[in-house]
Amino acid sequence: QDLSDLILSRIRDVSDYPKPGIVFKDITPLLADHVAFTAVVEALADGLDVDKVVGIEARGFILAAPVALRAGAGFVPVRKKGKLPAQTLEASYDLEYGSAVIEVHRDAFEPGDRVLIVDDVLATGGTAAAAVELVGRAGAEVVGVSMLMELSFLKGRERLGHPALRALVAL
Ligand code: 5GP
Repeated sequence: QDLSDLILSRIRDVSDYPKPGIVFKDITPLLADHVAFTAVVEALADGLDVDKVVGIEARGFILAAPVALRAGAGFVPVRKKGKLPAQTLEASYDLEYGSAVIEVHRDAFEPGDRVLIVDDVLATGGTAAAAVELVGRAGAEVVGVSMLMELSFLKGRERLGHPALRALVAL
C-alpha cells in the first residue's frame, strides 16, 4: 500500500462542518494510527535541510513539531491573533466572509533562517500565503511549504504561488 492510499484511508469526510455544504477533511483517524502518523512525519521530513519548521495553528502544530525534531530543526508557531505573548508581526487575509489575522513572534527567526511551513490542508491558500508573508517579513527565507493534503479544486496552489509547495496527497 503506498503512502497516498494509506493517508486517504485515514482521512474522514465530515459533511456540513463547519457549516452547511462544506465537506471537512478530518485528520484525527490518521493521527490516531501510529503507522500512518509516523509515515506522514517521515515523508514530510524527508531530505529536509532547514533551520526552522513553522506550524500553523492548530493542526499544523501537530505535524510540524515532530517534523522539526526529525529534521534537526527548531519549531516556530504561527498563531491566530492574540495568542502569542511577546511582540509579534501580523498578517491578515480574506476569508469567504470577512477576514482573519495570524501572527508570529518578531524574534522567532535568525536572519536568513531557512524555513519550512507545514499545515494539514491547503484549501483556498489564504492561510499559507499569509504565513509565507509573515516569515519573509520576519527576516527568514521560506524554502518549502508542505501540506498533508491539497484540495486542488479550491485553487490554493495558484493563490499561494510558491514554487516549493508540496502536498503528500491531492484531491
Ligand atoms: P485556506 O486558508 O487554505 O482556505 O484554509 C486552510 C486552513 O484551514 C488550514 O489551516 C486548514 O487546517 C484549515 N482547513 C480548511 N479546510 C479544511 C479541511 O477540510 N480539513 C482540515 N483538516 N482543515 C481544513
